[in-house]
Amino acid sequence: MSRARETLFHVFGYTQFRGPQEDIVEHVAAGGDALVLMPTGGGKSLCYQIPALLRPGVAIVVSPLIALMQDQVSALKEVGAAADFLNSSLSFDRAMEIERSMIAGALDLLYVAPERLVTPRFLDLLDHLHEAGQLALFAIDEAHCVSQWGHDFRPEYLQLSILQERYPHIPRIALTATADAQTRREIAERLCLVDAREFVSSFDRPNIRYTIVPKDNPRSQLLAFLREHTGEAGIIYCSSRKKVDETAAALAEKGISALAYHAGMGAEERSINQDRFLREDGIVMVATIAFGMGIDKPDVRFVAHLDLPRSIEGYYQETGRAGRDGLPAEAWMAYSVADLVQQRRFIDQSEAGDEVKRVATAKLDALLGLCETTTCRRQRLLGYFDEDSAPCGNCDTCLHPPQTRDATDSARKALSCVFRTGSRFGAAHVVDVLIGKATDNVKKWQHDQVSTFGIGTELDDKGWRTLIRQLVAHGALAVDHERYGALTLTESARPILRGEAGFTMRVDTPPTKKGRNIGTG
Ligand code: ADP
Ligand code: ZN
Repeated sequence: MSRARETLFHVFGYTQFRGPQEDIVEHVAAGGDALVLMPTGGGKSLCYQIPALLRPGVAIVVSPLIALMQDQVSALKEVGAAADFLNSSLSFDRAMEIERSMIAGALDLLYVAPERLVTPRFLDLLDHLHEAGQLALFAIDEAHCVSQWGHDFRPEYLQLSILQERYPHIPRIALTATADAQTRREIAERLCLVDAREFVSSFDRPNIRYTIVPKDNPRSQLLAFLREHTGEAGIIYCSSRKKVDETAAALAEKGISALAYHAGMGAEERSINQDRFLREDGIVMVATIAFGMGIDKPDVRFVAHLDLPRSIEGYYQETGRAGRDGLPAEAWMAYSVADLVQQRRFIDQSEAGDEVKRVATAKLDALLGLCETTTCRRQRLLGYFDEDSAPCGNCDTCLHPPQTRDATDSARKALSCVFRTGSRFGAAHVVDVLIGKATDNVKKWQHDQVSTFGIGTELDDKGWRTLIRQLVAHGALAVDHERYGALTLTESARPILRGEAGFTMRVDTPPTKKGRNIGTG
């Protein structure tokens, strides 16, 4: 038996490595650098913990969250490994004690917060260990925190490149559960891991069922969804603190054990709520994205989004908190174009440079594509992470294939109506013109005189709105929030207008008798 397998069995009590674990362990134990992309629950920890035990000296594990460190260290102590952590929760004396035991060679693993690792004092300690040949490896957990595009961005992570400069021969392993190609590149570049071997696992979470519905009456849609999960633990994500508070209160009023969590609450209240979520059964946590990273609760049965996340990665990461025990779980989201417009506004109004805004917008558009897809959601999701797969049979579009129809003519009418009215009006006005409704505004702008006035007899007002939303999702129309949500034509509108490309639209179906929209977006 290899030493790696021996350690797996004798220390951790497992008989087999999972997926790429063994290759990773062998590679890092032999002194190689690695970039590990593995979904949540895939078993990243062992990938550095076993090499840490196999190599002489202490392994330094960089981890962004105190709670995460505490959990890992207690689990390691339980199996008899010498592990400890250094972070701001410790007293000065306790921290000194840990530093001494590290220098004395009594530790196998030390978990440390990034801001502490880069202090001159800690680097001195590392120099000392380095000279004595007592630095086993560096593990950088939650490595996507180095990415400024993600919402977990931690500026201190950027300073970790110092490890490569200062200790070029000590193996480094970076791990994350989030990684589209862009983030992957960023991690490699910023942590100076360009020559590291990449280990990419499948990101599929087959036990999670994906459902995305158009927002109609979000509160009652949510209640209908929750009725299918009575007594189960779940997380409901909202984009604002206010909405978190309101939603939690409304659910509590309906007798649901809902708690709130957001960064605007006091630290104590937050930690009480988090604790209850972890320890009690069937708590529904209504939260902003401040809640989640490092929450290791295996039996979260559902994750619901009442607002659009910022990207597919965000969506994947947040929904990934469901079903870590491998049992069936559900990811449900209600979205609308208003969400999209709001997100675009956040991006445009941010202080960021043009390049940042461009990437953020592209990420949002990719997410919108996932919302509006007529094909398997999982395939779309995995495709975004460059992973090929077949239709899954466990998402709304597979289970209830959306009705689609050729809407090329209607699309052309809508696009030309946007053009005829000067690309200065929002969807409501454009729809009025299409269906020939002579409102005051239509008359004021003499849009009852344009050639597209009243040509849209084939759809009703809701149908046109749906079509316009899908044209926005498709990228043929853009929403300009600086001009009050005015619709404008994009480059991709051209082939449709010229008759060189068709347009297929998915038809929204009314809510089913279970009270929920299935398979439409
Ligand atoms: P991640 O950090 O990727 O989310 P963890 O390292 O926390 O995942 O592992 C998830 C769970 O899987 C843990 O309970 C862990 O003990 C278990 N696990 C990891 N590797 C194996 C293995 N080879 N055999 C059995 N269980 C494993
Ligand atoms: Zn599917």
